[in-house]
Amino acid sequence: MARIVQKFGGTSVGNLDRIRNAARKTAAEVTANHQVAVVVSAMAGETNRLVRLCTDLSRIHDAREYDTVVASGEQVTAGLMAIALQDLGIAARSWLGWQIPVETDDVHAKARILEIQTAELDRRLNNREVAVVTGFQGVSTRQRITTMGRGGSDTSAVALAAALNADRCDIYTDVDGVYTTDPNIVAQARRLNRITYEEMLEMASQGAKVLQTRSVELAMKHRVRLQVLSSFANPVGSDLPGTLVVDEEEVLEQEVVSGIAYSRDEAKVTVIRVADQPGVAAAIFGPLADAAVNVDMIVQNIAEDGSVTDITFTVPRSDLHRTRQVLEQIRNQTPYERLITDANVVKISVIGVGMRSHAGVAKRMFQALAERGINIQVISTSEIKISVLIPEEYTELAVRALHAAYGLDRP
Ligand code: ADP
Ligand code: ASP
Ligand code: MG
Repeated sequence: MARIVQKFGGTSVGNLDRIRNAARKTAAEVTANHQVAVVVSAMAGETNRLVRLCTDLSRIHDAREYDTVVASGEQVTAGLMAIALQDLGIAARSWLGWQIPVETDDVHAKARILEIQTAELDRRLNNREVAVVTGFQGVSTRQRITTMGRGGSDTSAVALAAALNADRCDIYTDVDGVYTTDPNIVAQARRLNRITYEEMLEMASQGAKVLQTRSVELAMKHRVRLQVLSSFANPVGSDLPGTLVVDEEEVLEQEVVSGIAYSRDEAKVTVIRVADQPGVAAAIFGPLADAAVNVDMIVQNIAEDGSVTDITFTVPRSDLHRTRQVLEQIRNQTPYERLITDANVVKISVIGVGMRSHAGVAKRMFQALAERGINIQVISTSEIKISVLIPEEYTELAVRALHAAYGLDRP
């Protein structure tokens, strides 16, 4: 007997037939004598609809009320899933974030889980009842509903698996695993049988939305056995293996580059002709950090006469408005000539733990892009990743070119 957390994403609970299909997958595990907790997302498109209601009503709205609104999608699917399971003769009960409770900090819209109380869930699971838990939502230390950022149900599932000491956390989605790149834009992408936590972490943080970044961090920290599976491809009981996220030692043949990710959620900001002296970077990036703007790539150009310089950096597209506001506010103390912003950019990243021991990875990337006439605007690297910022219209072309250049195309 094992204890399993299953998570069904938006498309996997997108309509009543799909909810029934998901319930049958849960029922199969219960019939096999396993204890199951199910984490559900909102029905496909529902969270986007709820977000739009908030922004249409008021462009800059109270994040606490945003959370109250957007958390509601998961409440509906949790109840529907419990009904679908009961219809199959399975004992099941739904649980909202505050009922468990899933305790989070009070950073609304991107809350982090502090603790999950499991005594009651433990008791119910031991009594053979399926616990259907809302993904994405929790309750803050101030007793308000919080949400964990877009894609946050993955994190709910992994955190629950860790808290419940589950043997497995199965993420059911609309693709049958983690691919070398997004299979929806590169037909030649290959499914990976295994991927290391570290690579998955980079893939997720560089834009591969198949798993939320925080969920991979938690899985790595708590050594949760995490796998990504399709909720559609296979009939119940014959699930193909999907992709297992594992430790580096468990991957036998390591490619130099194992995947390519892209993120359209990028905007580029250039501060033109700011003083080239100590303290200027702190004067710019300090206030941005205080405003919770997450600055990613940064380049500072060297000015010819050494007195002024240009600084270019990237921020999430949704933070561009706030970034402009902050930079305008500091202009008196930190003068600059002007600001240039560009939201039509995309960040493309090649990722692989094999990069640590192989040279020439960057060269191949720059060559492949140059051959297609794609101009690189900003570059950044880590031990196992190289990222470039390019014009957004070249996204597909660049990802396909790199996928081929690193020999990742399906034979
Ligand atoms: P869910 O609603 O189940 O959480 P998501 O839409 O959040 O599903 O994530 C699944 C999607 O992630 C896939 O449909 C695919 O387009 C996208 N994706 C991006 N990169 C990858 C990758 N490397 N492997 C698999 N899927 C990827
Ligand atoms: N429903 C939320 C979203 O769309 C959470 C999730 O699906 O993981 O972002
Ligand atoms: Mg998702």
